[in-house]
Amino acid sequence: MAELNILFIGAPGSGKGTQSFKLAQKKNLIHLSTGDLFRNNLKQETDLGLLAKSYIDKGQLVPDSVTTDMVADFVKKISDKKGIVFDGFPRNLVQAKNFKKILSGNNRILNQVIFFKISNQQVIARLTGRLYAQKSGLVYHVKNNPPKKKGVCDVSGETLITRTDDNPEVIAERLDIFHKNTEALLNYYKKENLLKTIDAFYSPNEVFNSILKALES
Ligand code: AMP
Repeated sequence: MAELNILFIGAPGSGKGTQSFKLAQKKNLIHLSTGDLFRNNLKQETDLGLLAKSYIDKGQLVPDSVTTDMVADFVKKISDKKGIVFDGFPRNLVQAKNFKKILSGNNRILNQVIFFKISNQQVIARLTGRLYAQKSGLVYHVKNNPPKKKGVCDVSGETLITRTDDNPEVIAERLDIFHKNTEALLNYYKKENLLKTIDAFYSPNEVFNSILKALES
């Protein structure tokens, strides 16, 4: 039970993925991104990937039962000696309740929840121009965070892509769904006394420092 299990909640483009990667490296945690799991399934053309695609392309949530089963399956395979940073799950109250069962069923507890506060305007600016490395899961930005070599991931050397759901109509839908679900989610974790909020507006290193501080306090 001593291992760290942390949940990051934030709008698309708030930097959850980048910060999960950094935290997982620093604290030797497993990074679980439901978005990455769906995209990997899609790349391999599994039934799950093809089902997820129909939702991802519209900016909608994949059904809770499907997402919950995928997370349960993932967590079950990880030794309970390893902590996990959860990035992108749970995204609503139903998932939060399922999450609690998954954790307790795997001899884990949730230690902290970090909410990445950021404006819609800022995330739209970030998502427009975002570049994604499918294998490493790393995220870049053409202006704010360019890779060392144009179009190529610094870590894996793979070609960077623009995610199909990073287009204006789908971004608007994703933000809308995020705001509809998140208040209830935040209240739920506030009541559980687990919630900390950080300002996600700043640079990746500054945000990372706020996260480390929040985790220590
Ligand atoms: P992300 O990479 O976190 O931006 O997620 C990309 C897309 O994957 C979302 O827009 C959803 O379609 C789907 N997705 C990721 N996580 C979840 C989740 N917890 N519940 C339902 N759908 C999800």
